[in-house]
Amino acid sequence: MYIGRFAPSPTGPLHIGSLLAAVISYLDAKANNGQWLLRIDDIDPPREQAGASDAIIKTLEQHGLHWDGNVFYQSDRFDAYQAAIEALLRDDLIYPCQCSRKQLNATQGIHPEQCIQPLDTNAPFAYRIKKGRYQFNDLYQGSQSGSDGHFVIKRRDQLFAYQLAATVDDHAQNISHVIRGYDLLDSTPKQLLLYQALNYQPPKFGHFPVITAANGQKLSKQNLAPAINNDQALTNLQLVMRYLNMTPPDTSSIEALLQWATLAWKTAAPKNLNQPEIGIITSE
Ligand code: GLU
Repeated sequence: MYIGRFAPSPTGPLHIGSLLAAVISYLDAKANNGQWLLRIDDIDPPREQAGASDAIIKTLEQHGLHWDGNVFYQSDRFDAYQAAIEALLRDDLIYPCQCSRKQLNATQGIHPEQCIQPLDTNAPFAYRIKKGRYQFNDLYQGSQSGSDGHFVIKRRDQLFAYQLAATVDDHAQNISHVIRGYDLLDSTPKQLLLYQALNYQPPKFGHFPVITAANGQKLSKQNLAPAINNDQALTNLQLVMRYLNMTPPDTSSIEALLQWATLAWKTAAPKNLNQPEIGIITSE
């Protein structure tokens, strides 16, 4: 059974790059007769924008991208993340760390083994996973490897890290296919290390190319990629499909457009998914 998902962080409204992510993960799930779940990655309150979760949900609805089941919120899942930390501690696979960013910068981010030592229990500390590398075969990008461990899974400010939360939830939701942007390719060896440490069966991963800003930077809320305009949902979907070298029909129905695209994807997924970038932002 294919179960896919779209997992936006509510740091702002969706932009064309995140709509591309929603559409690709949706089409791949639907073309495989699968389910498509929606998870809101709201584990980092300092980075979140008030109202962004609701705005994302509204945009998906207006674009006819209907998910299966209930919306899954990471903010409801802190007990599950803490239980995972405790299991990893029991198995001696993680360690507490009080290194500052400055200390780690001095070692180019490579974590000094010597800091695995008794803690000053009065000061805050993070948890990091021990060393490890991982090799995997990406559905679009081919053979990949990376990570040497030592990344944070629970932060000094006590917030759970994305790597841990994503792994625990993809497992809990029985996700079979993680289809997301190339910008997250580096995260996958880290997450695979966590799958192994937690004794979870890993899903398949596919990282599709991202749309960049005109200056070559990754599109983001930080570089003020414009928010999707819900009043032109059909045009937005057609634009996304053209980035994928698809030739969307001229229709006035969102439902018909998505049905056409699902069928087209079933016949043959786009050929340009094996690149890091898919073009620069353009607007209608
Ligand atoms: N929440 C992450 C983001 O918006 C994506 C998570 C994922 O697809 O694993 O960048």
